[in-house]
Amino acid sequence: RLLAVISDIGTVAVENSQLFQKTRELAIHDGLTLLYTKGYFLERLKEECRRSKGKDRPVSLLMLDIDCFKNYNDKFGHIAGDIVLKRLSLVIQQSVKKYDAVTSRFGGEEFSVVLLNKNMKDALKIAENLRKKIENTKIILRRIETNITVSIGLAALPENAVSEDELIYFADRALYEAKQNGRNKVVGFSRLAIPG
Ligand code: GH3
Ligand code: MG
Ligand code: MG
Repeated sequence: RLLAVISDIGTVAVENSQLFQKTRELAIHDGLTLLYTKGYFLERLKEECRRSKGKDRPVSLLMLDIDCFKNYNDKFGHIAGDIVLKRLSLVIQQSVKKYDAVTSRFGGEEFSVVLLNKNMKDALKIAENLRKKIENTKIILRRIETNITVSIGLAALPENAVSEDELIYFADRALYEAKQNGRNKVVGFSRLAIPG
């Protein structure tokens, strides 16, 4: 009987652990795209930046924002917009899966990709390939063939930034530049581009 009791306790412990694991999985993944959430991204970026300190292990960050997505939603509706977000998430994941990458939904129609062990030069190539792939992906909505484009801002640690906060800020600045320069572009952060 004692063995049966011990076995029951063991079973409950395993179930609890599985439940905990499942809850954690749900908490760190975005419900629509299944990519990581912003919360997980921030936690992971901090950890990766800490790990890279003093080692020859750069960390690059891509911030990606869909171009004129509001128009797209207005034309095809929000449900179609959601389908586009899911499709885009798959394209991003597919494109970076051969790298050590962490892909997250940063907010509404904004995504982030952390590239481990990639400096600015390498990350620029990866980002440009991703941009082209997205532009060339046909999406059929309401029997109309369409496509979206994205703007991508890029910054790297230690080349540009010294901390995860700077990395996000500089990638965001570069994204802003990409939007200003006509959209559907990749821009790597440059201090020269910052006024003052
Ligand atoms: P820009 O090129 O300057 O980025 O233009 P934009 O229209 O993409 O940018 P803006 O920030 O003005 O609008 C973002 C739009 O993204 C607003 C909203 O309609 C849409 N959006 C954000 N989150 C979601 C979502 O979860 N689903 C859908 N369908 N649309 C979303
Ligand atoms: Mg946006
Ligand atoms: Mg946008």
